Amino acid sequence: MKKPVIDYEECIGCGSCVELCPEVFEVNDDEVKAYVKAEDKCDTCDCEEAIGICPTEAISWSEE
Ligand code: SF4
Repeated sequence: MKKPVIDYEECIGCGSCVELCPEVFEVNDDEVKAYVKAEDKCDTCDCEEAIGICPTEAISWSEE
């Protein structure tokens, strides 16, 4: 199953992925970085679009 993963080095915490997929992504208030809180919830949104909209291309698919 494909799962979204975030490269924390690249993420700037802009929040775009959270706006698109609030069930999947969340921004960590302390580190101002996004993280994947529910990798199996892409069926509630369009993770592909979130990957496309990320300004730093920090999100990608993992096949693991
Ligand atoms: S869209 Fe990209 S840069 Fe913005 S919070 Fe999400 S992962 Fe980080």
